[in-house]
Amino acid sequence: MTLKPVHIIGAGLAGSEAAWQVAQMGVPVVLHEMRGVRMTDAHKTDGCAELVCSNSFRSDDVHYNAVGLLHEEMRRAGSLIMAEGDKSAVPAGGALAVDRDAFSQGVTEKLTSHPLISIRREHIEFPPDDWDSVIVATGPLTSVELAKKVQSIGGEEQLAFFDAIAPIVHKDSIDFDIAWMQSRYDKSGPAGTGSDYINCPMNKEQYEAFIAELLASEKTEFKEWESNTPYFEGCMPIEVMASRGVDTLRYGPMKPVGLTDPRTNARCHAVIQLRQDNALGTLYNMVGFQTKMKYAEQTRVFRMIPGLQNAEFARLGGLHRNTFINSPRLLNGSLQMKAMPRLRFAGQITGCEGYVESAAVGIMAGRFAACERLGVSMTPPPHTTAMGSILAHITGGGNADTFQPMNVNFGLFPPIDEPTHVRGKERGRERKKMLALRAINDIDNWLQQFTAAKAA
Ligand SMILES: Cc1cc2nc3c(=O)[nH]c(=O)nc-3n(C[C@H](O)[C@H](O)[C@H](O)COP(=O)(O)OP(=O)(O)OC[C@H]3O[C@@H](n4cnc5c(N)ncnc54)[C@H](O)[C@@H]3O)c2cc1C
Repeated sequence: MTLKPVHIIGAGLAGSEAAWQVAQMGVPVVLHEMRGVRMTDAHKTDGCAELVCSNSFRSDDVHYNAVGLLHEEMRRAGSLIMAEGDKSAVPAGGALAVDRDAFSQGVTEKLTSHPLISIRREHIEFPPDDWDSVIVATGPLTSVELAKKVQSIGGEEQLAFFDAIAPIVHKDSIDFDIAWMQSRYDKSGPAGTGSDYINCPMNKEQYEAFIAELLASEKTEFKEWESNTPYFEGCMPIEVMASRGVDTLRYGPMKPVGLTDPRTNARCHAVIQLRQDNALGTLYNMVGFQTKMKYAEQTRVFRMIPGLQNAEFARLGGLHRNTFINSPRLLNGSLQMKAMPRLRFAGQITGCEGYVESAAVGIMAGRFAACERLGVSMTPPPHTTAMGSILAHITGGGNADTFQPMNVNFGLFPPIDEPTHVRGKERGRERKKMLALRAINDIDNWLQQFTAAKAA
């Protein structure tokens, strides 16, 4: 029986991986890529899986780093991106970095020589009605025509052309001898209790020192083609607000009204609030703290905040040209658009962030689409795995009201019992290793179902 193809739009990190996964399951693929006839602002070649900036896939440490663990899961899932990344690796300490040209050539060759994959160089404005299974993997620089069409289906507010990322902190690194839980005026709201926010207090001296460091810190510049990035009033970088006057932040995101520091029973000079960011309650975002400070500067300056002196950041802030949908609202658990299930989404457009994460979502979208075409049922990867933790975050675990792109990190994993046989810093390391070992075991079990699906 001849199977109808799965159509994949975009041969970047996610689309290339998805095409490989679909074809390896015996299902034909048509991969549509516009580069060759039309470029993006950041790509330089027409090669598949071009790395637009750094040549690093980040840490390769499987036991102590969530992205290293993701690498391992992807290798076990037969990832093309990881196989070609490993082949073209260059020396980079504990990181996996690649020769970008060799890597992209390797991916392109594997895809073009696969008997079930055909690549068409064309811009897709919107998938025609007779494409019954489509993976949209068009990335942060999705063409405007396609983005607008997606926006018209999902809703005006559900697709963003820029991200405005406030730092996200692991809750267990916050010092609750200083910080306290309270909602402003103790309001409970629809899903709250009246003590939903984490509050970090500042006195006048601490506040003024903080503002001075914010203003003096090093910032990143916009790329030339990003230079018309709009600053919406609601997501203006914190340092831009601070530059308008020393008290601007005290009347904005750092306002202390309606909050009482339990240590003094009084209102503070200023307060930094953190709001729950994932359903598990392990991650909290710093409300209103989107910033263009350099990463090292963010860590230094934000650790000046009382209560955050030992903060571990699940992600740091930023503001970039990006295209992503509000996945927790628009997608179901197998990455299909609820309003148009023939469309699946993969890669950075789903609100994951990074080369490796994008390819990982490509693995999942590809496998889901192939199983659907083969008429076999499958389950999504367990939440306890790195792949499953990304999937859970983008399809429901992330807060839809404040959804912003996210890298993989251990804060997305369901907690595990604390190790009791080690103390201090070693305990945190051991906990990561336990999470990693649980994930590897669970990903192996998850992958078994596909062996049966292929054979069927
Ligand atoms: C300037 C910039 C720098 C970045 N730096 C890093 C970094 O250093 N490290 C990191 O991990 N991540 C980085 N990222 C994020 C990075 O882009 C993503 O992590 C990754 O490339 C996303 O993979 P993707 O497959 O979703 O998108 P892409 O790799 O961008 O692939 C999408 C593909 O879709 C094609 N396409 C778009 N619209 C259409 C259409 N309508 N029809 C047909 N084809 C279409 C594009 O040409 C492109 O080939 C950066 C992003 C940008 C924009």
